[in-house]
Amino acid sequence: MDYERLDAACNKATELWGFDFPHLMVIEECAELQQAIIHKLRERVSTVEVAEEIADVLITVRHLTLIIGEDIIEAAFDKKLAKLERKLKMNDANHQGEQ
Ligand SMILES: [Mg+2]
Repeated sequence: MDYERLDAACNKATELWGFDFPHLMVIEECAELQQAIIHKLRERVSTVEVAEEIADVLITVRHLTLIIGEDIIEAAFDKKLAKLERKLKMNDANHQGEQ
């Protein structure tokens, strides 16, 4: 992912459309991704269409990350990733011996 290019576009969008816009766009794009995933599970859309919605979400989430602040997002990310790693470790420990 070209963050330099993405960040430039996001910063320009904030200058043009303000701070409310990226918040609304994340909501809209997440809803579109939800719908695409449901349609994919029902075999009504292609993987490419789902990928396009994922790209929209990634762009809008990056935009919101720049507004909220990378430091606070990174701290939350690290915390959530550590939680997932703990769950995976517990899962491994609970299922050891089943193989
Ligand atoms: Mg979209």
